[in-house]
Amino acid sequence: MFSAPGSGHPRSVTEPLDVFGDAADTATDLPPDLDALRARAAGCTACELYRDTTGTVFGSGPPRARLVMVGEQPGDQEDRQQAPFVGPAGRLLDEALDEAGIARDDAYVTNAVKHFNFRYQGKRRIHETPKAGHIKACRPWLDAELALVEPQVLLTLGATAGKALLGSSFRITAERGEPRTWNDMALVPTIHPSAILRADPARGQDRDEMFAGFVADLRVARGLLRD
Ligand code: SF4
Repeated sequence: MFSAPGSGHPRSVTEPLDVFGDAADTATDLPPDLDALRARAAGCTACELYRDTTGTVFGSGPPRARLVMVGEQPGDQEDRQQAPFVGPAGRLLDEALDEAGIARDDAYVTNAVKHFNFRYQGKRRIHETPKAGHIKACRPWLDAELALVEPQVLLTLGATAGKALLGSSFRITAERGEPRTWNDMALVPTIHPSAILRADPARGQDRDEMFAGFVADLRVARGLLRD
């Protein structure tokens, strides 16, 4: 189900993108390994998000990880360092994984969208939620990563990743922590660690409670891992 997004002329996401193509034609497009896939993704211009960024932030982790975590998109730090989950949200994720008893090197981490979507506020780059067209354009890279890693368990982090894999009717607050089967894999949706960093007491959000709930969801995922 992999069809490499275009790497030729820049295209707007408003143009029709044949990213899912014909499965029979595209099956042979799957590169032999993640390094080859990463190299191919580095030149992706299938949507406009590649502009004004450092580059494609590809997934990271063991090539045969039992657990794959899918976030939304790289942030400012991730774009600058060209690695996923290396900013404040990544540090919180590391802390939660540790508390849940999951080794970071047992988990592959990636994003539904692989370029940083932002707007400028002065010189600062402010995160913008990716649009459905960005997620659709980027989906073949995620599908290819999953096809190569073949994890036992998928963990979606946040609403964008949940919708990317489970459809637009996915609701994070109602469905988080509930395991389900997705393409022969177990999938557990949970919140994005950045939501914990943004916890707002004025809206009844308690950071410690949110962190504990996040760790509980990670433990659900850990319980689904087989030896
Ligand atoms: S966000 Fe995804 S689809 Fe868009 S240019 Fe980057 S890698 Fe390609």
